[in-house]
Amino acid sequence: MNLKTKDVDRMAANKVDNGFYGQDIISVSQFDRTKLDYILSVATEMKVLVERFGSADLLQGKILANLFYEPSTRTSSSFMASMLRLGGQVIPINNVQYSSVTKGESLPDTVRTLESYADVIVIRHPEVGSAATAAHYASKPVINAGDGVGEHPTQALLDLYTIIEGLGDVHGLKVAMVGDLKYGRTVHSLTKLLVNYPVEFVFVSPDNLRMPGDVLSVVQASGHPYLETEDVHNIVGEVDVLYVTRVQKERFTDLAEYDLVKDRYVVDSELMSRAKERMIVMHPLPRVNEISYAVDSDPRAAYFRQMRNGMYIRMALLAAVLGKA
Ligand code: ASP
Repeated sequence: MNLKTKDVDRMAANKVDNGFYGQDIISVSQFDRTKLDYILSVATEMKVLVERFGSADLLQGKILANLFYEPSTRTSSSFMASMLRLGGQVIPINNVQYSSVTKGESLPDTVRTLESYADVIVIRHPEVGSAATAAHYASKPVINAGDGVGEHPTQALLDLYTIIEGLGDVHGLKVAMVGDLKYGRTVHSLTKLLVNYPVEFVFVSPDNLRMPGDVLSVVQASGHPYLETEDVHNIVGEVDVLYVTRVQKERFTDLAEYDLVKDRYVVDSELMSRAKERMIVMHPLPRVNEISYAVDSDPRAAYFRQMRNGMYIRMALLAAVLGKA
């Protein structure tokens, strides 16, 4: 991250410093309660704006480079929709096979190229640390849209927004994360974000897909109570949030190993009948078999609300890093 250039740019533009202007969004550890409150409240303003007017011209004249080295439906299109709804424009690079990346161009050079044209870069890449590398070479803000099994900070923010929207508050909640906790970057980010609040964690996974030690140590260091288990039936009746993940097939080197665990947890009507009346089921999507379609009409199913909230959060982040929030 070239802070110097970004700071100079900020002073030159004489912007009000919201703590985000010109900054990169790489990890949820950048967020404290003040920053979280700020982004969540701007997201609510964006929601109102979209519901009332559909769009605004806040980011008119600004350009986003949307650089995706891994597949994406929601993150990519919601970043695009966010920019368009705020009056900006997008350079979409979803098929890196048609870009100079296939000619062997390095990430730093690709980033240097894109920042010559755009005001902000969103990047998804299969390697942990790639967004930080991109930010290091860019003088324009870089937003991490998923760096391998590392983090997915914008997803965690929309998850937090959805929890508050669905349950009114985060304080005192028991949050279960279920499935592939080893490779699922969304649960890594969400866990590290939720330690900002007094919550209890339950980590449900097969033994070989447990939450990584570095994430557990954040939970331990902050003193939050947590439980690790392989059994979802025993805990489903006690939790306020059941956050279900897809087993990340693309991260497995041995597909036989994937086959053994892929259908381990399925949220169906029977499991939901054991859950509290006031709770929510979440999923970052895409789902494969983890949640049966019968659960979609259950008012506790929050996963479609999550994807809509993603746009409001990303609108808030784009406006904030571009100094317009
Ligand atoms: N869409 C989420 C991600 O990019 C979750 C998933 O792919 O399972 O991490």
